[in-house]
Amino acid sequence: MKLPEHLAPDYRFLAIIGHPITHSLSPLMHNSAFQALSLPYLYAMYDIEPDGLLKAVQDLKTLGFLGYNVTIPHKQAIIPSLDGIDENAKAIGAVNTVCILNSKAIGYNTDVLGVVRALEPFKGLFAEKPALVMGAGGAARAAVFALHTFLKVSEITIAARSKEKASSIAGDFRIRNAKIVNFARKDLNTSLAHCSLIVNTTPVGMHPLVDASPLSDDAPLKSGHVVFDLIYRPLETKLLRHAKAAGAKVVGGLEVLIQQGAAAFEMWTGKKMPVDVVRKVLEEKLKVE
Ligand code: NAP
Repeated sequence: MKLPEHLAPDYRFLAIIGHPITHSLSPLMHNSAFQALSLPYLYAMYDIEPDGLLKAVQDLKTLGFLGYNVTIPHKQAIIPSLDGIDENAKAIGAVNTVCILNSKAIGYNTDVLGVVRALEPFKGLFAEKPALVMGAGGAARAAVFALHTFLKVSEITIAARSKEKASSIAGDFRIRNAKIVNFARKDLNTSLAHCSLIVNTTPVGMHPLVDASPLSDDAPLKSGHVVFDLIYRPLETKLLRHAKAAGAKVVGGLEVLIQQGAAAFEMWTGKKMPVDVVRKVLEEKLKVE
């Protein structure tokens, strides 16, 4: 691992590590924010294979990085290599942000904060009411934890192909008011009828299969629903178009990406990320992809 070259000696460095990493929008997001605030910081990207993870964690410390993001496949695997992790990251069992201070690398999970901040403007529409989460992978864990711990929904239904994975999410977070249902049209439609917040954490509808949706065309979406799709490629999924047409409020995955990044940015720099600038840059980038 090498520092980016040709920069003034007072530059500070941040990065993302993952494998593969080429499609990450995080460098564009953070570097646009640093530029907008005229901060002498640079955010780099390192493709790190699983067997190089421990060395990368050490190198990032030695080279004087302020911190870094961690993405697939390292979010769980990195934990034993860190000097500590915060409570949320520990409860979820995944780290996506690391801060290095006094040669100590501490792990955090800002994906959860991303979900909380993206949904906060609509909280009045779903707080104390039942929510439906589709999928039971990594994004589902962050979403369910956010809904249960911070957004205070009254009950969470997890619809998943694997009932085992769904049950282990509910069990790990000790959610008493959890229901597990099949990822099947009948069960999804029944759940929609009594849930106010609908969250898609599956990749169904993601580029290139953009004509797919986790819900059937006759699913009873309505104006009282808040529909949240974690996918951001494309910016507006078939699910969100369907929900909009039914009069529901919609939130796209780009907002989570931006808000998790904003939370990390604040931890590293002590400054607020200019989210409007960043949103515009990322929307432009995703529109032409
Ligand atoms: P993951 O760990 O692989 O989990 C995917 C989940 O979706 C699993 O439960 C999987 O079920 C289920 N699934 C996959 N294909 C399905 C299908 N055809 N029908 C029903 N269920 C299906 O992936 P992840 O990391 O959670 O990511 C999931 C999505 O969230 C991706 O589209 C990703 O881009 C998005 N995401 C967005 C952000 C953001 O910042 N906006 C952050 C993270 C993730 P099985 O376990 O049965 O395979």
